[in-house]
Amino acid sequence: KIALDHVVKTFNTFRAVHDVSLTVESGELVALLGPSGSGKTTLLRMVAGLEFPDDGHILFGGEDATLIPVRERGVGFVFQHYALFPHMTVADNIAFGMRTARAAKRSRAEISARVAELLRLVQLDGLGDRFPAQISGGQRQRVALARALAVDPKVLLLDEPFGALDANVRRDLRRWLREIHAELGITTLFVTHDQEEALDLADRVVILHQGKIVQQGTPRAVTRTPNSAFVMRFLGDTH
Ligand code: ATP
Repeated sequence: KIALDHVVKTFNTFRAVHDVSLTVESGELVALLGPSGSGKTTLLRMVAGLEFPDDGHILFGGEDATLIPVRERGVGFVFQHYALFPHMTVADNIAFGMRTARAAKRSRAEISARVAELLRLVQLDGLGDRFPAQISGGQRQRVALARALAVDPKVLLLDEPFGALDANVRRDLRRWLREIHAELGITTLFVTHDQEEALDLADRVVILHQGKIVQQGTPRAVTRTPNSAFVMRFLGDTH
């Protein structure tokens, strides 16, 4: 379980995140939804440990996360622009985290068995020897997810993971992510500015505007009873 408690983040004088309190239950898939600049990425980076809050607390299972080194937080992340290493094969990209993770030292045989298992999980069996340039954008994003999962994270952070892909591929990946989530049950925070994606994927949607949470609830609850003109407009806005 992750808890954010009155979290504030300011860049110079600009409040990117303004007094955000939020709980993500174990196994839950929560979407952070909001327009560009609403503070979604900043929130995710703080959960990952890449930024520190100026005020407030972030708790992982009750423990103050700022005291846990990034590599020991048990967090896997995937960003919009799949940063796969172009000179490494798909299999080596997936294994990369396992080789560098301090927590779990594994033998070469263990690593290659785990890579094979992950390739099956993300439905890319047989593509381990290809290079990123030799597979499609959707497949690259699945490799990025396999790499994030390789370290057995307790928490998965996804920042617009399908943002760069076309609509059909996005829809397929959404369905696929739902299946993976149902299978693994990893606590997941998913950032998107696409309301359709958030409403379709998440157990719970958290809507941000100008660094503040303006509404949160199940997809059904927020679409049925938007609590402000902003939420109504934003959810109704298909783009
Ligand atoms: P997008 O969908 O465009 O990525 P977002 O909702 O993820 O938007 P953030 O990236 O969290 O928004 O940014 C929130 C605000 O904080 C923006 O106005 C941004 O310009 C500002 N900001 C983010 N990071 C920094 C930084 N390192 N220095 C200064 N300002 C920043």
